[in-house]
Amino acid sequence: MIETTNSYFLPDSERMEAFGALLAHCCAPGSVLYLYGDLGAGKTTLVRGFVHALGHRGAVKSPTYTLVETYDLGEQRVNHFDLYRLGEPEELEYLGIRDYFDNQAISLVEWPQQGRGMLPPALITVQIEYEQGGRRVTLSGETPATESVYRCVATHFVDR
Ligand code: ADP
Ligand code: MG
Repeated sequence: MIETTNSYFLPDSERMEAFGALLAHCCAPGSVLYLYGDLGAGKTTLVRGFVHALGHRGAVKSPTYTLVETYDLGEQRVNHFDLYRLGEPEELEYLGIRDYFDNQAISLVEWPQQGRGMLPPALITVQIEYEQGGRRVTLSGETPATESVYRCVATHFVDR
């Protein structure tokens, strides 16, 4: 078995965006990603790189008040959730949460712990921590599909 790394140091926000772009390249349609990390950790920065890599040209801001922003990018749809301000997981019913998840859409969820019980399981969990002025990003997950994402990222990551 090939050894795969699943933890990466990103020294600045440009490289965080590049890492998001790399994840976009490595995740199949239908993937759900959970993004964990404190306020200001860099979750939205990673999503920005992800969405731009799939062809979006405009701004990417956290949908802090609207909870979700959907990007229609040709064949691909990306849902960006920020559940920080969600009161209770059940409120996601009113949002029609189920309709967002299908095998075409990729969903990236900031503050998934706020939606516990109402979200489909993640293919990949991304944990972001502060480290020496930059950030450490650790990927986890336990399906065979997760393993292939680990490999894809490890193979294409360029440490500059
Ligand atoms: P979050 O969505 O987790 O609250 P943001 O993506 O809004 O965080 O980022 C907060 C700040 O952290 C921004 O100023 C961004 O430029 C910066 N940042 C993001 N990634 C990194 C990194 N790898 N190293 C240093 N600063 C970063
Ligand atoms: Mg954010």
